[in-house]
Amino acid sequence: MESGKTHKLDTDATCPKCGMIADGSMASDGSGAMPEAGDITVCSTCGTIMEYGEGYSLTALTEDKLKELKEEDEESFLEVMQISGIFKEMYQTKWN
Ligand SMILES: [Zn+2]
Repeated sequence: MESGKTHKLDTDATCPKCGMIADGSMASDGSGAMPEAGDITVCSTCGTIMEYGEGYSLTALTEDKLKELKEEDEESFLEVMQISGIFKEMYQTKWN
């Protein structure tokens, strides 16, 4: 992970699961792109898969949306699942 590609977002949106303020973002493809509404992200604290709304608001991704992503873009889906799995494991190791 390159820290140079990380953006500080002007938001106080928090992860719906762990409450972590999600004001940092990094494009998973390393492009340095800023997140847009509808983009999918993973909480770097607890691994919850979320979706950006307007103004970088965040909502947990529903099962339906996740299924949709899998059908439309399996490569991205697998990437999201992998990243989420890594963070989830770290979260559990840390708090349990
Ligand atoms: Zn979280």
